[in-house]
Amino acid sequence: KSGFVAIIGRPNVGKSTLLNRIVGEKIAIMSNKAQTTRNKIQGIYTTDKAQVVFIDTPGVHKPQNSLGDFMVKSAFSALHEADAVWFVVDASQERGRGDNFIIDRLKEVKNTPIYLLINKIDLIEKSELFHVIESYQADAPEWTEIFPISATEGDNVPELLDSVIEHL
Ligand code: GDP
Ligand code: MG
Repeated sequence: KSGFVAIIGRPNVGKSTLLNRIVGEKIAIMSNKAQTTRNKIQGIYTTDKAQVVFIDTPGVHKPQNSLGDFMVKSAFSALHEADAVWFVVDASQERGRGDNFIIDRLKEVKNTPIYLLINKIDLIEKSELFHVIESYQADAPEWTEIFPISATEGDNVPELLDSVIEHL
């Protein structure tokens, strides 16, 4: 099995940390050169059963001008070409305008599994998780899967990989 996974989320939610955990040092080798393009291949995860190519979608924020608008559009185009989308949010922060802007774009993505990854669960109490999940279920696409994870601790990351490979 092989395919592309697009990772999206506002800055500082932990996208790079998650990718680093999954693809290890490959990301460091690839990321410098890739900074020049909008949708950059960030790394490739390979096992005997699967190959997953990860694409970061940077610069995803509300455009201030037409160049910004162009860049944001090309960033979002990756969502339509991917075999799966991982939308990463920060469990320790309230859902905000940056999240909502992306969620509105995600509503336009059809026939592609969209995962909600609630990252940084190491920063919250277990009892708060339900509330966090609930806050991302109103006015949002129907998430194919919801994974609470910790990119720094590695919690639930192997399960996440197994799941996305199943969907390729
Ligand atoms: P990006 O902008 O989405 O790529 O976010 P980064 O991967 O650069 O992470 C932003 C900050 O959040 C860094 O200081 C990370 O160490 C931290 N971070 C990322 N994932 C986690 C996590 O699961 N738990 C905690 N506590 N911090 C995290
Ligand atoms: Mg990053």
